[in-house]
Amino acid sequence: MAEIAYELGNSLYINLTNRCTNACVFCIRKTEKGVGYDLWLDREPDTGEIIAALKEKDPLKYEEVVFCGYGEPLLRIKEVVEVARWLKEIGVKKVRINTNGLANRYHGRNILPELKGLVDVISISLNAQDAEAYQKVSRSRYGQEAYAEVLKFIEESKKYIPEVVVTVVRWEGVDVEETKKVAERLGVKLRVREFYGN
Ligand code: SF4
Repeated sequence: MAEIAYELGNSLYINLTNRCTNACVFCIRKTEKGVGYDLWLDREPDTGEIIAALKEKDPLKYEEVVFCGYGEPLLRIKEVVEVARWLKEIGVKKVRINTNGLANRYHGRNILPELKGLVDVISISLNAQDAEAYQKVSRSRYGQEAYAEVLKFIEESKKYIPEVVVTVVRWEGVDVEETKKVAERLGVKLRVREFYGN
């Protein structure tokens, strides 16, 4: 049975979808080991099932609770909001979302105001220094328009979420130094990730 809530270090992760609008070359879904848990869902859990899975793990024991995947969590914005609200009600201090930054494009509206007060940190995959390099590694369904969408999403996130971090994975064709400059212009921290998959 696939895990809905799983532990990595001091964090508790939530796996609520396997769908994504990108098909990144470095996606962990394509690696043999993945994160060490079975995260392939037979069907997407509803809010009640996610909360039940979290209760079993006791979210208050962890430093943070993270909406992650396999997949893009913000495709399920309604469930993310409901679960994040519950996490805050029980006293979880830090709620983080890992996202590809394309949810506004997917939903056709700005979903970020819905996360205000519920999410403390958002980590957005910037992935590259420009639209062309982004599309080469991210293979977004939105083509080369995706990068501009991600930049807009980062700017917008700053209005509603206290801590906005962007990430890049070292990969051929990705210029980490130039990506750093993009992050600086956006006024957010860049986290450089190494690829450990196989
Ligand atoms: S955005 Fe994340 S989940 Fe989606 S394909 Fe890329 S790495 Fe995988």
